[in-house]
Amino acid sequence: MADTIFSKIINREIDADIVYEDDQCLAFRDVNPQAPLHLLLIPKKPIEKLADAGADDQALLGHLMLKAGDIARAEGYGEAFRLVTNNGANVGQSVFHLHLHILAGRSFEWPPG
Ligand code: IMP
Repeated sequence: MADTIFSKIINREIDADIVYEDDQCLAFRDVNPQAPLHLLLIPKKPIEKLADAGADDQALLGHLMLKAGDIARAEGYGEAFRLVTNNGANVGQSVFHLHLHILAGRSFEWPPG
């Protein structure tokens, strides 16, 4: 997988406002926030998008989901937040390193645009 801006954030080659890190994942504030809380939660393992995750990644994906809730709670939005992952350029993915958007702090429409 080619290097992305997110691998540069993991490697501290570029700055980010990091709110959580462990051995498997990293969460930081989106540079162009779409809600009062807009974080990106990424695995350190380079996976381009959700559809590229395999059976070996089951525990990692579970870890990301549980951490998303923990991080939203730590940010004060544990009761109401939205998780989004864009899988592919046609649905809006622009950075090809798997990431969960954690969004909260305003109302959201359904279905999403
Ligand atoms: P995607 O469109 O689902 O791939 O989301 C990529 C997200 O990364 C967008 O919301 C961008 O605003 C965000 N982004 C791009 N570069 C950076 C950065 O350097 N720091 C933090 N967020 C970034």
